[in-house]
Amino acid sequence: INFTSLGLSNALLTAIQQRGYTQPTPVQIDTIPVILTEQDLRAKAQTGSGKTAAFGLALLQKIVQHREQRPSTRTGNQVGTLILAPTRELAIQIAEAISDYASAITPKVKIICAHGGISINPQMLALRGGADILVATPGRLLDLVEQNAIKFADLNCLVLDEADRLLQLGFSEELNEILKLLPKKRQNLLFSATFPAEVDQLIAKLLINPVHIDS
Ligand code: AMP
Repeated sequence: INFTSLGLSNALLTAIQQRGYTQPTPVQIDTIPVILTEQDLRAKAQTGSGKTAAFGLALLQKIVQHREQRPSTRTGNQVGTLILAPTRELAIQIAEAISDYASAITPKVKIICAHGGISINPQMLALRGGADILVATPGRLLDLVEQNAIKFADLNCLVLDEADRLLQLGFSEELNEILKLLPKKRQNLLFSATFPAEVDQLIAKLLINPVHIDS
């Protein structure tokens, strides 16, 4: 199995090659096809498994396909895909990796990273034109919602990365608040290194008939 047989477009294959990846990792082989079928997913994945590229490449492929069917309808402050990460370091790392994978795609995929610890104003400005992908930490996301800087009516996919750490760091209430804001009809992807009871409870609440992956 190679990246081509996983159903990725030429622009993504170019970026993968430039990045020096020769073979997909097990988590990429197992999750990319599932993500492309729009099913919900729960995946056990450790840091270093290639999980960021797994969901990043699949999300970008979905955006490319979506555009072919329905040319850009992105409007003010609308976010198409939301990725939640527990820490600003992880959010930045995810956004940088996905931006890199997206570099050969035209028209450009708009990827925004929003985390705390820095001024909110540039993030509000960046969101004015909407975003294909928003990578955010939960607290700052809710700050942006409060500022009316984000609209979720067009949201079609939610990703929780490192779900166990999101809950360990006490983001359960923020997550609940965020979930209330999202359209019901959407794809949900949950990645976690461990599955303690709290993660299982979140899965039960969040995912509909999820595919289980433990690569
Ligand atoms: P992650 O598990 O997402 O933190 O990724 C761990 C590291 O693996 C990152 O530095 C990626 O750039 C790298 N990586 C991801 N996929 C591949 C691949 N298919 N081949 C080689 N390296 C990869």
